[in-house]
Amino acid sequence: MSRSNGLSLEPVEFTYEWYRQLLEQLVALGYETGSFEDPFEDGDLLLRHDVDLSPRKALEIGRIEAGLGLQSTYFFLVSNPLYNVFDAACRTVIDELIELGHDVGVHFSTHQYWSQRPSEDELLTRVNAERSALSLVTDDACEPVSFHCPPEWATDQPFDGFTSAYEPRFFSEATYVADSGQRWRRERPFEKRPSARIQLLTHPGLWGDSDLPYPERVTSGIAENVGYTERFLTGQLLEDEFEPPV
Ligand SMILES: [Zn+2]
Repeated sequence: MSRSNGLSLEPVEFTYEWYRQLLEQLVALGYETGSFEDPFEDGDLLLRHDVDLSPRKALEIGRIEAGLGLQSTYFFLVSNPLYNVFDAACRTVIDELIELGHDVGVHFSTHQYWSQRPSEDELLTRVNAERSALSLVTDDACEPVSFHCPPEWATDQPFDGFTSAYEPRFFSEATYVADSGQRWRRERPFEKRPSARIQLLTHPGLWGDSDLPYPERVTSGIAENVGYTERFLTGQLLEDEFEPPV
């Protein structure tokens, strides 16, 4: 049944199919997707994905969006212990997302560097270092950055030297809807009719072919990456055919 917000979203399921239907409904309301690098105008829908857990699922969702003719932005954690943007598997994901027409940028974790607010210079130095690192993975990385688990000081304000996905124009001055912690199970997305400009943030690792609660999804996402690392290193370091480096 269609609600007053123009969207039919019940029940919420964290499945690729549910996400695809959400996108189709937003498109039916007249929204068009775009890039964080373009002017943000009425009728624009910025699709943002913070890749905290699963590059593989980022690509699954990127293919769904491209199949619908939609453009999105994928922000990768350069500083994280779970996956490595320089690893061949992740580089392949990044290259394919870009080939599909999506943007790829840095998902910046302040928590790797500071427990309290840094100076603007310290922040810009680290952000630029991570952007430089990602530029070695792909020539086509986008300029904007999204903050990972943003501290209060990082939200709803602009910064010198880089575009933040949490700038007021993308955040408090737009309809900002995020799936963090699968919160849509408790508070429905788009409870009110969305405004003329939307930023929709989803985390690919929280979604799948079938629905799964948040703790299980996080646990399985970690296990998938750890399993990959284990197979990779076992093959290289322990199996008979492996020749150790000189
Ligand atoms: Zn994050």
